[in-house]
Parts: sequence; structure tokens; C-alpha cells
Amino acid sequence: MLATRKIYDAIVVGGGHNGLTAAAYLARAGLSTLVLERREIVGGCCVTEEIAPSCRASTTSYIASMLRPEVIQDLKLAEYGLRMVPCDPAIQVPFQDGQVISWWADRDRGKAEFGKLSAKDGQTFVRVDDQLKKLARYLQPFFLEPPPEIETRSLRGWSDLFRVSKRFRGISSGEVAQLVSFLTGSLGEFLDNNYESEKVKTMFLANNVYGKHGGPYQPGTAIGLLFHLLSGGEHELQGFFGHVMGGMGAITQALAASGTKFGAEIRTSSPVAQIDVRSGRACGVVLEDGTEIRSRIVLSNADPKRTFLKLLPGKELPDEFLHSVRGIKMEGPCAKVNFVLAEEPRFTGTPANYTPLQRTFYTLVPSLEFAERCYDIAKLGEIPEQLWVDCVVSSNADDSLAPKGKHILTCFVQYVPYHLRQGTWDANRELLGDRVVKKIAEYAPNVPNAIVARQVLTPLDLERTYGLTEGNIFHGDLRLEQLFFMRPVAGWAQYRTPIEGLYLCGAGAHPGGGVTGAPGHNAAHQVLRDWKKGRFKEAAA
Ligand SMILES: Cc1cc2nc3c(=O)[nH]c(=O)nc-3n(C[C@H](O)[C@H](O)[C@H](O)COP(=O)(O)OP(=O)(O)OC[C@H]3O[C@@H](n4cnc5c(N)ncnc54)[C@H](O)[C@@H]3O)c2cc1C
Repeated sequence: MLATRKIYDAIVVGGGHNGLTAAAYLARAGLSTLVLERREIVGGCCVTEEIAPSCRASTTSYIASMLRPEVIQDLKLAEYGLRMVPCDPAIQVPFQDGQVISWWADRDRGKAEFGKLSAKDGQTFVRVDDQLKKLARYLQPFFLEPPPEIETRSLRGWSDLFRVSKRFRGISSGEVAQLVSFLTGSLGEFLDNNYESEKVKTMFLANNVYGKHGGPYQPGTAIGLLFHLLSGGEHELQGFFGHVMGGMGAITQALAASGTKFGAEIRTSSPVAQIDVRSGRACGVVLEDGTEIRSRIVLSNADPKRTFLKLLPGKELPDEFLHSVRGIKMEGPCAKVNFVLAEEPRFTGTPANYTPLQRTFYTLVPSLEFAERCYDIAKLGEIPEQLWVDCVVSSNADDSLAPKGKHILTCFVQYVPYHLRQGTWDANRELLGDRVVKKIAEYAPNVPNAIVARQVLTPLDLERTYGLTEGNIFHGDLRLEQLFFMRPVAGWAQYRTPIEGLYLCGAGAHPGGGVTGAPGHNAAHQVLRDWKKGRFKEAAA
């Protein structure tokens, strides 16, 4: 075995945006830090890649809505080229009768747009928006701190419970009830109880439930309403949706540049085969080519299943912990299809005076019932004929992505199964692509004949190429029993793991998936607190 002599303070396995965030904070604090990324580029599922000559797309994630303002500022991402332009309309839904409804950032404009469908719903929109934003503000502070330790036998447990209860000072019993119903209830029931127009309900659907298991009538799906109202972007706007100039990869390029400036070392094409554990303590890694690299601590940006079931010898972990990790719900349920087009998609019903930026974001989902059926088919292992497709004409927001005359259309697709009942994803990849094209053609008939290149990423491709176990885009479904002090599993939500010196810093840790930087930020701060206590002085010696 090859061994490098240097002992790093910290090795980060994986250069996704959370690994890079963690590394930058650790390097900023003076720890010698090495990031090891298996792919030839950093970024994980926050990347811009060439999908045809000179044509670049955000191949996986495509909208920045929740990137923490603190991370942007602390790591000076604007100085490293990060620039976001608000999506306005945040989304728009073309309906099959040719009407296009837009969700404007300006609330009065939103009220007027929904009011066209139902005057009552226009009024309700304002009331519900206030209510949701207020509730989201209670949750906001939890995003950038470890969840409480609910172990009340320890002093730490009690002080954590005190910390949590302080955050809810002043909350009314009505708000507690609302919060509980958002955490446990279904989006569909919430909408049925509050709105009368099916189109208004569909607008809310289109703005939520992304990447999550469950149709809109399944318990736990209302939670997205609050998640989407956590503030994001440079200016801490609640409900921010942003196009990133240069594609999503500009975020991870800025993070990498910031980390490097603070002194972090980043190596790509360096897949880690194993996290090295000696006497119950992480002390480095072994790469797939056999190279050993030592460190005092290791942070894993890989998802929990990959980290604990693949990168660690099973004997190092308690059975009960392994059992909980095996039970984490992954299994898809989405895919991505990226296109280069020879002409801009023309979505029927788009007002003629819309600017290119306003002609960027279209969600193709006609109703809640449609989405519910789509999930039901996918959960049985079949590829639905009728898919829910989110379309972003990203070259309309940023014309540097493609040469003049070419257009980039990036499409998020749900729901699709990871486990197919019949056949393989390799055999069904193009079928999925064809179904997506057919769906888009219903709304933008010029698209099929304008396709120059097409890239289909099935859940299996998301696993193979991006390292996402079972293609799950959030490193574990965002359901109540997999959130907060139960993420990744109950008892281990504080970024530490049963292995001394091994931390989880990716989306599988609190507060979960999405391009937020929050797990990376929180894990790094947990490491630094432990580091200051002198916990790792003897490690790797
Ligand atoms: C198709 C798709 C669409 C999405 N759309 C959006 C969106 O629009 N907006 C949004 O906010 N979020 C979106 N998401 C979710 C979001 O991108 C992810 O939740 C988030 O980027 C996860 O970041 P991460 O750094 O925790 O993990 P990842 O990005 O998964 O990074 C983990 C890194 O670890 C590396 N790695 C794994 N194993 C090893 C190993 N053994 N050795 C070395 N390296 C290893 C991987 O290669 C990867 O680079 C989307 C995700 C996908 C896949």
C-alpha cells in the first residue's frame, strides 16, 4: 500500500457543496484540510457540465432557493463569482386549456394573479402567506445549528431542550396546532381546506413536494410549504428562488475557490474505498488505488448509506445503528432530462410581452389528482406514462450557457421508481426520455423537432454518476421521521457518529437535502467545538 506521510487535521470524503462548505470553514479555522472527490470535478449534484459541445447545463440541481445567506457571506462567495438572479415569476404553470398562471415574487401581483381565478383565493393567498412565513420563521434558526440532543438524562440534553423551547417563546396554541399540522398533514388537505380554485391549488403543488416520496395527499407532504419559505439568497428573502449565473456549478466553484484560499487542498478523481478506523477511531482513508492518507478526523459528505454500509467495515458499528441506517428511505423518486435545443421552447399561452427571464420556468403538472396517480404508479415500480415535469429554459436566464441560436432546457421529472418492477433502467432510459418529450410537446409543441442533444439521467444514473444511493437527491427522503433529531437516524443527529472522529457533513444530516450549505456549515462547527475541547490531540499520532 502507498502511504502519504502528511497527517491532515481533517479529510473530507466528497466534494459536494456541503463537503466544500465544511472544508472551507475548517480551513478558515486553521485546520489542515483535504477534500477527496471521486469524480473528475467537484460539486456533487450542484454542478454545471457540458452536455454537447459548448453547451452547458446544471445537469442535476437547477434552482438555488435555500443557500444559506450566512454561508454566502462567511465564505465570500460573491467575491469568487457567485451571482444569482431571482426567478420572477418563481414558477409558472401552463394549463391544458392554454392558460398560464404565474407566481410572482411581489405579493400584490401574486394576489391579483390568483384573484383572476378566484377572488376569495386571492384574499386567502395573502392570509396564508403571512401565516406560513410566520411559522417558517420559528423553524429558521434551527437550520444552522445542530438539532437538540433529546437525551434528558444528561445536563446537555436539558440545556438543549431549554434552547429549543426558548425559540418558541411567544408562540400561541393556535400556531402550535398549525405547525403540527404542517409537519404531519398532507399538502392536498391543506389546500382543499383553504382554496377553492383547482388551478390555485395546482400552483401550490407545483411549488412544493419536489423530490419527495409521496403524492400530495400523503401525510407529511405539507412540510414543503414551510421549507420553501426559509429565507435564502444573498439578501435573506423568504421564499427566494434564484437562477445561478453560470449554472449551479458556479456555487461549488466559488466554494472550492474560497476553501482553497483559506488553505484547503482539493483532489478530484480520488475515490475513497474505505474510511480507516483503528481502535474505534477514524484516522484517515484508503483510496481505491490503495493510497493511505492519515488524518485526525474524517468528515463524510457521502450519503449515510454509502458512508456507513460501504465505506466502513460493518464490524466497527453497533448492530442497532446499522439496522437504523439500512432503514433510511431512499429509492428515487426522480430523474433529470437535459436538452440542447435549436430554438427556444414556446409554451402555449405565455403572454407575448414576457421577457426571456419571465419565459424561463414552467411546471407541467395539471392537478393534484394527476400527481397523486403519478406517485401511485411509480411506487409500484412502473414508469408513469404521464409524468410531472419541471422545465427550466436556463439559457433564457443566462445566455452564456449556450452559443447564440442554441437553448438549454433542463427538466426535473417526478415520480419515477428506483426499483423497476420489470426490466432495467439501462433498457428503459430512452423510454423515459421519450415520455418527457411527449409531455413537454403537449405544452410547447415546437420542442420535439428542436432537439439537438438529450441527456437522460435515471435514478440509476444519479446513483452511478453522482454517487447518490438509490438516486435519492436528498441523501434520504425528507419525511418527518427522517428529519431534525432523527436525521440521519435517531440518536446521531449531531454530525458525530458511533466512530470517534468521524462526522457526517452532507445532506443526509440535519437539516437535509437541497443546496443549502447548512449540513456542511453545521458539521464543521461541531468539529471545531470538539477540536477546541482537545478531543483529537492524540488521534492519528
Ligand atoms: C436531479 C437533482 C435535482 C435537484 N434539484 C435541486 C434544486 O433545484 N435545488 C436544490 O436546492 N436542490 C436540488 N437538488 C438536491 C441537492 O442538489 C442535493 O440535496 C445537494 O446538492 C446535496 O449536496 P451534498 O453536498 O450534501 O451531497 P452531494 O452533492 O451528493 O455530494 C456528495 C459528494 O461525495 C462524493 N462521494 C461520494 N462517495 C465518495 C467516495 N467514496 N469518495 C470520494 N467522493 C465521494 C460524490 O461524488 C459527491 O461529489 C437536486 C438534486 C438532484 C440529484
